[in-house]
Amino acid sequence: MTFRTALFCCATFFATAPAIAADYAVVHAGRLLATPGSNVTQEQTIVIKDGVIERVEDGYLPGDAFGTEEGDTLAVHDLRDMFVMPGLIDGHVHITHENNPRGRLDRVQMSEGDRAMLGAGFAKTTLMAGFTTVRDVGAGSSDAIFALRDGIARGDVIGPRIYASGSTISVTGGHGDGTQGYRDDIAKLLHQSGTCDGVGECRKSVREQVRRGADHIKLTATAGVLSNTSAGLEQQFFEDELTAIMDSAHSMGRKVTAHAHGVNGINAALRAGVDAIEHGTYLDNETIRLFKRYGAFLVPTVLAGVTVAEWAEDPNSHLLPPQRAKAAEIGPKMLDMARRAHQGGVKIAFGTDSGVSKHGENAREFALLVDAGMTPMESIRSATVMGAENLGKSDMLGTIEVGKVGDIVAVDGDPLTDISEMMDIDFVMKEGIAYKAP
Ligand SMILES: [Zn+2]
Repeated sequence: MTFRTALFCCATFFATAPAIAADYAVVHAGRLLATPGSNVTQEQTIVIKDGVIERVEDGYLPGDAFGTEEGDTLAVHDLRDMFVMPGLIDGHVHITHENNPRGRLDRVQMSEGDRAMLGAGFAKTTLMAGFTTVRDVGAGSSDAIFALRDGIARGDVIGPRIYASGSTISVTGGHGDGTQGYRDDIAKLLHQSGTCDGVGECRKSVREQVRRGADHIKLTATAGVLSNTSAGLEQQFFEDELTAIMDSAHSMGRKVTAHAHGVNGINAALRAGVDAIEHGTYLDNETIRLFKRYGAFLVPTVLAGVTVAEWAEDPNSHLLPPQRAKAAEIGPKMLDMARRAHQGGVKIAFGTDSGVSKHGENAREFALLVDAGMTPMESIRSATVMGAENLGKSDMLGTIEVGKVGDIVAVDGDPLTDISEMMDIDFVMKEGIAYKAP
């Protein structure tokens, strides 16, 4: 669909997809939190040209003030009654997957094509919830997630910008090895390129993800809740393997993030130079010291803890016995973990583990972070400024500033006084294109 109007248009015109790309997009923001952590300003105009923020000005500039030329298209979005923020970043999702009782059957029945189509639906739901960027931290195989990432980037599919790790780096039988519990011949068929043991294999597994298109590397430093083994929750890779993974990834310009629950695994990954820890359930004072010493991020995924704790309490839920025992143990601990990390001054980036919880409910994490002691402002900062830093993308994401991409969301209330407003995002723009408007 094309849309040709010189010098004016109407904002609420773009209710939903198909979204319309204009040369210029203009947002009149009643209240603007351009850089979460700093002040809210009033009555601002944001001008986005070709998807990039070109100007942020005081006052509501008129339609002829943007340097448009004859033939340019212009979309003006009237958000004078709204609270405007940068697009949200979820640092931990699994967007080609959502937990369900059929999961183990899906693994042998669904093709990568099926996964990509499933992911396309979840991607749209996620974008409409205000999340304009996500980091996908591990799909069993990788074809679907890379195809979805690239399809969204081309504009074939509506969804958030995706940064993807591809196959999770895991020890054989470990948390990221999705072949647990299948009979041997099926397990061989399901073998993933991220499964490795020993220094040489681990280097190769990392390099293979890079070759296939990984934006970052995800490893499972410890056991996990939803793997079908009674392997506890502690360290799984040895120190030499961890170092091999970090060095291989960093030498190819990739950040590394580690799934980790048990304290020895968390601390070993931090000492080996990991850039971020996902979950961090059993972190201790030494962990907090290591986080700060190395400048690593924590992505606490409290929502995942709450979700699995709910399943553990429900006798009819689909958890297998090893999963149920671990879920009951770990779920209730994650809020306290986030509280201790925040109090200790650890850098926290927002992440939900959506795919465990339902896609599109990502914003539930905001209220949980506030329960863990963050101010609403700090929680929004974790999903914008800090989320961008965690991805190494502060030059293009995380704030509404000249030169950054035009990713903007808005709500009709004040999330700084009522964080539940984040659950009801009324306006979503990605790269200057509005996908949702009031
Ligand atoms: Zn996860």
